[in-house]
Amino acid sequence: MKQQTFSVRSGLCSDKQSNAVVPPIHLSTTYSLPGFQQKGEYDYSRTKNPTRDLLAEALATLESGKKAVITSTGMSAILLVCQLLNKDDLLIIPHDCYGGSYRLFTHLAERGLFKLLIINQNETKAFDNALSQQPKIVWVESPSNPLLHLYDIADIAKKAKSAGALVAVDNTFLSPILQQPLLLGADIVMHSCTKFINGHSDIVSGAVITKNPELGEQLIWWANCIGVTGSAFDSYMVLRGLRTLGLRMQCHEDNAHKIVELLCQHMAVNRVYYPGLVEHDGHELAKRQQQGFGSLVSFELNGKESAVEQLLNNLTIFTQAQSLGGVESLINHPASMTHASMSDAAKVTAGITPTLLRLSIGVEAIEDLLQDLHNALDKLSES
Ligand code: PLP
Repeated sequence: MKQQTFSVRSGLCSDKQSNAVVPPIHLSTTYSLPGFQQKGEYDYSRTKNPTRDLLAEALATLESGKKAVITSTGMSAILLVCQLLNKDDLLIIPHDCYGGSYRLFTHLAERGLFKLLIINQNETKAFDNALSQQPKIVWVESPSNPLLHLYDIADIAKKAKSAGALVAVDNTFLSPILQQPLLLGADIVMHSCTKFINGHSDIVSGAVITKNPELGEQLIWWANCIGVTGSAFDSYMVLRGLRTLGLRMQCHEDNAHKIVELLCQHMAVNRVYYPGLVEHDGHELAKRQQQGFGSLVSFELNGKESAVEQLLNNLTIFTQAQSLGGVESLINHPASMTHASMSDAAKVTAGITPTLLRLSIGVEAIEDLLQDLHNALDKLSES
């Protein structure tokens, strides 16, 4: 089955009690046991829930994995992966990962829960040196947030494997429709389902998918133990959103291409970051490891930070908001929003300048999006 068909049909007609086409939502927190000292498939919803299981099965299949854990948020999915680390274990993370991931990893490491090395994974020497320190996990985010740098997942996985490390990839920006890290050699895929997978900006949710069933079982155990499993309602909503994932990803990307064209030609724009551009340094890699270029676009404005405020005030359709991957177009100022928790020095290292903006291109009519952005940029050039 093609991914689009699978994401539409996943879990349909699975309720044998009523023959409902759309599976019902199971809100009960507790389940009656079949008899004294007998165990049923379900006993308590934090541990296992039928609605959450349907979503887990769907995401495991879409990512070509064996097991999936659905968590309450993307951050709790990352926290869950951290449970695999003991205090002497080394975690390698990219210098430009999502600000919230960066904050979690650095704070847990400061408390001595594990060791941490932050590097630019595209610098071969730094990466090889990091691997020689026998890490337990290499964390990868490709494309990265917000500058859309690409990292060669297959190459990282090959090297990490020979150093005995697991590779975990945050696949939030592309979804399994555009990138399947497990097929490229990674061991773990993590998602903020809050983004493209749910796609409607009305639920926070996360997922961890593993290639190895035993590793998946370990994470399932930890998810119940620390209580990060997702709710039945949220799982139901994400499964509903998943049904249009293929359609949405196509429309997001078509719109993104046209927006990039506009940005590249506008004199108020200094630089555009988009892997679909031939001049993007990850363009060839994107063609190899992705099935599309995605719909996150970052750009730097000419002028000072005041131009940012002016542009944001001039926009009428693009909404100034955190997050990404919803049907609606959003604009984000990473330095003061998503990446505000990074120190100034860390922002400089990651290339997050005061005039950098990130767009999450939605599925509105492209004519309206182009007009909105065009008008707002034109007013900047005039002033
Ligand atoms: N990973 C990436 C790439 C993100 O962009 C985000 C949130 O913006 C997260 C993880 C965290 O996910 P959540 O907000 O669902 O906790």
